[in-house]
Amino acid sequence: MTIMGPPSETGRFGEFGGRYVPESLIPACVQLEEVFTSAWSDPRFVDQYRTILTEYGGRPTPVTEVRRFSEKLGVRVFLKREDLAHTGSHKINNVVGQALLTKRMGKSRLIAETGAGQHGVATATAAALMGLECTVFMGEIDVARQALNVFRMKLLGASVIPVTSGSRTLKDAINEAMREWVASVDTTHYCIGSVMGPHPYPYMVREFQRIVGDEALVQVQDLLGGEVPDFVVACVGGGSNAAGTFAGFADTRAQLIGVEPEGGAAINRGIPGVVHGSRSNLLQDDVGQILEAHSISAGLDYPGVGPEHSYLASIGRARYSTANDEEVLGALQLLSRLEGIIPALEPAHAIAYVIREAGKEIPRGSTVLVTMSGRGDKDAETVAQILGESI
Ligand SMILES: *Cc1c(COP(=O)(O)O)cnc(C)c1O
Repeated sequence: MTIMGPPSETGRFGEFGGRYVPESLIPACVQLEEVFTSAWSDPRFVDQYRTILTEYGGRPTPVTEVRRFSEKLGVRVFLKREDLAHTGSHKINNVVGQALLTKRMGKSRLIAETGAGQHGVATATAAALMGLECTVFMGEIDVARQALNVFRMKLLGASVIPVTSGSRTLKDAINEAMREWVASVDTTHYCIGSVMGPHPYPYMVREFQRIVGDEALVQVQDLLGGEVPDFVVACVGGGSNAAGTFAGFADTRAQLIGVEPEGGAAINRGIPGVVHGSRSNLLQDDVGQILEAHSISAGLDYPGVGPEHSYLASIGRARYSTANDEEVLGALQLLSRLEGIIPALEPAHAIAYVIREAGKEIPRGSTVLVTMSGRGDKDAETVAQILGESI
């Protein structure tokens, strides 16, 4: 049986997912679903998407066996190197797909929301490449915290709109982007950055990210003489790099493990609820108010998680663990020193889990594939500050 196939006709993965949007956005979601479904079964579209990711995006990204790190832990670790993709993370896979769909729908403008700025930069990149207008909504507090990414978006020709409502962070930027989408849906596509939002987004974004898992399966089997790894580990913010990775391995015997930040553990500590267009696990208080997530990595600072992860957890196909800020910082330093690879703080959560559980949940001698979702350059300042170094 195919585990990570399409969702139900109403966009559900078990009891999760769906399409909870204002009436005025239903036609846009239906149009997107139809255009995506036809494009994804059109070999010319798929070829165009793959060609851009090859010639522009730097795919396929390699799988690297990290030998010194493995020796230290007593387990054999392989990294899927999304840090080497254009713009420094897996996000390019999704935005190229959605920008191509935007053109296919005859629309001329992309809007996006961003927290740490990485999805905003990726969307602005795809918009520049394909000659689309681009507007990015960002909480006022994040605009101040992420000045470098704001400037990168401007260089790429995007306009950045600071959002001053609510907590002035990511969830408010999402609300504002939804509002703008309602107002300009004839010309505008809303480019969601993870496996979240109303149907078809969680499914569509997973399909655009499955290139990570599909490539990795072939590459790692090549290195393991035809075997699949015992464990496949990825960090989970909204959950797109994990979903794309898991999609390649869901029908194998590999154990799938998602790692959330301890202060934003939506699957581990959340309660099912509806937010931003779909039903999934969510950090909320007794009366249903959404709680703020806290993490050392701004890219994982989100109180919700994609619905398919709630589903995979509910059927026991994937397990979800957490890593705390201290473990993450240690993991980043260890991998940097032993392998010359500085991970972003997000995938450092996945690395931290492997370090902590090697010889425990991950028995000695196991083989482990970890998705290195992005490079750490963007986090150098944060890490320096915590370590008390000045740069
Ligand atoms: C944005 C980001 C993430 C979190 O997003 P997911 O949808 O959970 O993959 C993880 N790693 C990096 C490097 C990112 O930029």
